[in-house]
Amino acid sequence: MSEPRSECLFCRIVAGEVPAEVLRTTESTVAFRDVSPQAPTHVLVVPRNHHPHAAALAQDEPETLAALVRTAHEVAADEGLGEAYRLVLNTGEAAGQSVFHVHLHLLGGRELGWPPG
Ligand code: C5P
Repeated sequence: MSEPRSECLFCRIVAGEVPAEVLRTTESTVAFRDVSPQAPTHVLVVPRNHHPHAAALAQDEPETLAALVRTAHEVAADEGLGEAYRLVLNTGEAAGQSVFHVHLHLLGGRELGWPPG
């Protein structure tokens, strides 16, 4: 499940083959700005290795799932969000997942309604 895939957009961003505004990298994660931001800060944090969704990552590399959250928290601090931000993991097309390389959305910088749409 974790080999880089030439057809996977986020594998290609991790490999530097597709440009992105990268904010932070760690041994196991890469954080970059979403191209279609839904909030003043909208960043995606992805594992370097390919996993289709969060449950697969939790199964295969649980420490990397924790690393996604740590990286998001660090980016939130860099962005001046303090402790107020939202993390989202869409899983499955019907729930809004459109890229099947797991990505943690970090959203902040405005009032965020609940429940989400
Ligand atoms: O959760 P979902 O799979 O829908 O999220 C995919 C996200 O990837 C979207 O927010 C979309 O704007 C973003 N994206 C991006 N760069 C691309 C293509 C999609 O940031 N080249």
